Amino acid sequence: MLANYGYKDGSGEYFIAIDTDKCNGCGACVKACPADVFEITADPFDPLAEKQVAVIKEDHRKKIKYSCALCKPTGERPPLPCTAACEPQAIAHSW
Ligand code: SF4
Ligand code: SF4
Repeated sequence: MLANYGYKDGSGEYFIAIDTDKCNGCGACVKACPADVFEITADPFDPLAEKQVAVIKEDHRKKIKYSCALCKPTGERPPLPCTAACEPQAIAHSW
């Protein structure tokens, strides 16, 4: 399932989607992210699956645009540490 974390405001939509079918809970995104936005936990959308997946920490969900500003300076977006580290390509950003 596609788990979306973030918000939209007058300036745009700021969501990070984690595909919990692709995520294997490896933790590479946790290590790669300079803003410490990820954590590995039981799948919140399928608690019976006994599977560990990455989620966006609660305190970052309402400010994710600002949490990610380090990796997304204005203009062209460079490769992101989180998506580069995720071998199964489970992470997608809406902006
Ligand atoms: S790097 Fe990708 S597969 Fe590994 S925990 Fe993070 S989202 Fe899941
Ligand atoms: S863009 Fe940067 S700060 Fe945002 S989740 Fe990815 S690695 Fe972390």
